Amino acid sequence: SKCERRFRASCDCCNKNLCLQHLNEHNALVISQLSPLTDKINMLRHQLQSFNVHEVTGIGRGKLEQWRKDCHEKIDQIFEKKCQELDCLFTEEMNQQNKKLLQIKSKIDKLIREQEATKQDIDLLTSEIHQLDEEITKLNITNVQINTYPLVIEDSFIQINKIDEYKIDLSNVAHVHRTLKIRDGSYTTLADNNQFLLVHQKPNLCLIDRD
Ligand SMILES: [Zn+2]
Ligand SMILES: [Zn+2]
Repeated sequence: SKCERRFRASCDCCNKNLCLQHLNEHNALVISQLSPLTDKINMLRHQLQSFNVHEVTGIGRGKLEQWRKDCHEKIDQIFEKKCQELDCLFTEEMNQQNKKLLQIKSKIDKLIREQEATKQDIDLLTSEIHQLDEEITKLNITNVQINTYPLVIEDSFIQINKIDEYKIDLSNVAHVHRTLKIRDGSYTTLADNNQFLLVHQKPNLCLIDRD
């Protein structure tokens, strides 16, 4: 049944020339489609609000904390090692000189015990003591020079990427299954990037770390 009323305007939803009454009807139909859209927006907002950031980032945060712990441990280790090195610089020499002092002392004790010494003995002992005196004095005025370089930590040492659910997180492939020597032509490359190579080497599918 074709409308007999005079058409007033072209409707933008159907591009037809419509009368006023039909225009109103079309308009009402369009308006009624807004309500479900509002419902959908509210639903999505609710979904977004219930999204728990910490739940999703928890594992990543754990990795970051492990990295921090490892770095601190490395600093502590090198600190301890260098402290020991510093002590060793002197303790070894001190032990050496103490040993020499005791040797000379036992020679003197022996001469006293036997009540027999020559001028040559005295000269020799005097010369040995003089030499030790100089060494010990030198040790006392020794300074230590320590050159240190600041630890360089680049922002790029930690890279954070959001990954799609269906992609494999290669950083989780932590252990090396097997080290392969691969000859050219013995495999078919399926996918690769700078670090990994996914190859088909009959009958296996291998994920190869280029290192
Ligand atoms: Zn229309
Ligand atoms: Zn009409």
